[in-house]
Amino acid sequence: MNNLYKVGLYIRLSKEDEKCGESESITNQKSLLLRFVMENCYAQYSFFVDDGYSGTNFDRPAFKQMISDIEAGRINMVVTKDLSRLGRDYIGCGEYLEKYFPEHNVRYIALTDNIDTTLDSCNNDIVPFKAIMNDYYAKDISKKIKTALITKQKDGKWVGGCPPLGYMIAKDNKNKLVINPNEYWIIRKIFKLALKGNTTYQIKEYLNKEKIPTSSIIRGIRGNSKMASLGIWNTKTILNILTNRIYTGDLVQHKRQKLNYKVKKIVPVLKDNWIIVPDTHDAIIDKEDFIKVEELLNKNKRIKNKNVKRLLDGLLYCYECKHRLSICSPRKKDNKTYLVCNYYRMYSKNKVCTSHAFNYDILEREIIKLIKDKINKLDINKIKLEITKYLDTKDNTNIKKIEIEKNKKINYLDKMYLDKLDNKIDSDMYERISNNIKLEIKEIDEILELKIDNNQNIEDKINMYLDKIDRELIIRLIDRIEISKDKDIFIYYNFCNH
Ligand SMILES: [Zn+2]
Repeated sequence: MNNLYKVGLYIRLSKEDEKCGESESITNQKSLLLRFVMENCYAQYSFFVDDGYSGTNFDRPAFKQMISDIEAGRINMVVTKDLSRLGRDYIGCGEYLEKYFPEHNVRYIALTDNIDTTLDSCNNDIVPFKAIMNDYYAKDISKKIKTALITKQKDGKWVGGCPPLGYMIAKDNKNKLVINPNEYWIIRKIFKLALKGNTTYQIKEYLNKEKIPTSSIIRGIRGNSKMASLGIWNTKTILNILTNRIYTGDLVQHKRQKLNYKVKKIVPVLKDNWIIVPDTHDAIIDKEDFIKVEELLNKNKRIKNKNVKRLLDGLLYCYECKHRLSICSPRKKDNKTYLVCNYYRMYSKNKVCTSHAFNYDILEREIIKLIKDKINKLDINKIKLEITKYLDTKDNTNIKKIEIEKNKKINYLDKMYLDKLDNKIDSDMYERISNNIKLEIKEIDEILELKIDNNQNIEDKINMYLDKIDRELIIRLIDRIEISKDKDIFIYYNFCNH
């Protein structure tokens, strides 16, 4: 028995290595190292295994453990299958081989490379060269993988791994997305809420209250994040969904990339360099609706109090300086809400503008009156288009579209029932999703019924809606409203010049 050495057998396997076949596998490395230990009769040895770690840096758990064992005097010899198992970064490898190991009296052996730091062999002279080659190999592989990935992305192939909520990978094509029948309704719901003018905060509150499953819940993933596994929605996730063009059928990839092959850090890619291929898969959301939501989100951005939404939030601007007019929180003493010019507020000492501190509620009433007057004076045809669009989403006047939608939902229900019989989903999940779909079908039926006695003329209908004017309609009709220091109101409509 040889007790002179306490041996650390270090094993590393990266995802790239796996593609090179069995020779680099954990089992293979293990048996090679074990044979070495047996042949040399070393009594004390332990394994350190980093499975799934790249050799381009030394930030690996088992490796770190081995280093701390060296420092505690528990190890004085390190053996790997070859030098590249130690690492693929030649500067780092050099540090360990030429400085760290000698300084700590550690003997290092790379079996198949014939490297042994205690022997004065000429093999050791080629260590720096080997290290450089290993480093080059890592760089080359990483470049090849990246190029292959980008080519695929440019071809409109999905290469992103786990698809976003609402989609799944097609059974016959791993690079194609198809609508996930169990999930798409959540995405629709979120967009529907956003189209109604809700903020991400309000949507989040709603989804959590209604216990709408998050992707980790519906996919049964117990993630690392506690919040995610508890199935709680947050505004960030909702914003990500609402701004993801993938839901319109366009494939958007290459939004993030690794800094370089040595560093794990992922950095965002500039929007101009994203790889976008239109219409690669079925849309969950109409392109038109998506753009509308984008506009709404921009208008919601500056709203201070996310909970209370004012009809004219995000639409008011200062006539004099063209900056936004903020709607302040209600004053404590009389609960009245006032406006303020943002520019004035920021630089009030410099007298760049005036306060524009008008009572919001009074102003809102005046503005609504102006809008109604304007519409009543207009040739109805001019606004018909804009209004019909609005009525379309409210009433879904397009019967055919609705009926197709209804049939789809019924099909999903049938399919889900089969999945339940096959035990692919549990009863709780089935209950929850099917109830939701049934509700949607009921909504559709109601619309269809409404449609039958819907010969009401468009003018009556418009007046009906104008009577209970809401934020959605306001945003469709109005681009911006400017208020002057003398309280003059200038309304810029979406459907005509002024
Ligand atoms: Zn101003």
